[in-house]
Amino acid sequence: MDPATTRQRAHDHRDEYLSLLERLVRIESPSRDRGGGDAFVDALSSVLRDDGWSLRREPREDVGDVVIARLRHGAPGPATLLLCHYDTVHPRGSFGAQPWRVEGDRAAGPGVLDMKAGIVAGVLAPRLVRDAGAALAGPLTLLVTSDEEIGSDASRALIEAEARQHARVLVLEPSRDDGALKAGRKGVALYSIGLHGRASHAGLAPFDGASALVELAHLVLELTQVGNAEVGTTVTPTVAHAGTTSNVVAERATLAVDVRVPDLPEAERVDAAVRGYAVRDPRVRVEVAGGLNRPPMEANAVNAALLERALALASAAGWSVEGSVVGGGSDGNFTSALGVPTLDGLGSVGGGAHTSDEHIRIGDSLDRLGLLASLLMEA
Ligand SMILES: [Zn+2]
Repeated sequence: MDPATTRQRAHDHRDEYLSLLERLVRIESPSRDRGGGDAFVDALSSVLRDDGWSLRREPREDVGDVVIARLRHGAPGPATLLLCHYDTVHPRGSFGAQPWRVEGDRAAGPGVLDMKAGIVAGVLAPRLVRDAGAALAGPLTLLVTSDEEIGSDASRALIEAEARQHARVLVLEPSRDDGALKAGRKGVALYSIGLHGRASHAGLAPFDGASALVELAHLVLELTQVGNAEVGTTVTPTVAHAGTTSNVVAERATLAVDVRVPDLPEAERVDAAVRGYAVRDPRVRVEVAGGLNRPPMEANAVNAALLERALALASAAGWSVEGSVVGGGSDGNFTSALGVPTLDGLGSVGGGAHTSDEHIRIGDSLDRLGLLASLLMEA
């Protein structure tokens, strides 16, 4: 089936796409919400079973179950892993009593863009291929995890094990807001820094105290100098707490720092700077926890080749898209770091991710569904 026909067939599936998306968005599934997660996995499993996927459902300690679904009726070509997560950043009820809205070309709801529309694309792309009497190029695995928004601690090992058994990974996260695919992502490091000083009465014995708060101020200013905008490294202090009462020298302070890096040497440079901070007041002790959470997804040769295939298929279907490198990390960072060709941003197109304005653009997202189906028919 040629790319233009596949694109048309994706648009013909508009009603199916929207009704499955509505069903999945209405089941609110914030990270760590076991009830929401279970309900979501129940609904998704029944859809996948009806479509002939074989399923494995793996429980996790503090987050919802993980779903591993496999389709083996393709040709004996290279195996593809579709990577998704169903947890969202939106607490239940944050979109009000009516979490699902469609207006014209826009569908809105909690997690609609990030990334329930991506999951819908993962379900519908192979269905579309089958409905057209065409065949998948090779075996297909759909991995749907439950903790991407909180760092993927519970699913990282499984993601990496699955990636090693596949020839390529297509990540169904949303595209950049302008529609660009994601061929590279920065690495993400998170630090939690504790400062331990000495309390004292600010009026009676001000010099007996060692202020964790004053030290925190020095630390924050020093860290902001560690970034390097030219190469894309950012070091952003994000949350600070210090002190107890207005007349007491602060004994304790804590600081959270968000770090984004383009490559591993930059990650190591920033890590050394954070851990090597020299206190101004030697009575204050510094404790650093955290570090690199997601390695960078570098725009390397194998990722670039996969991107080129996607761009060519889109252009053969009569539309155009570009590749990009973005600051936000995803589970694609893990698979790319293993050297498995990885392409991200294939899920849906829209805006307002992680906000109350989260939405997809339906027409653009259906183009993307067609592109995904075309990729799955290509060896
Ligand atoms: Zn996401």
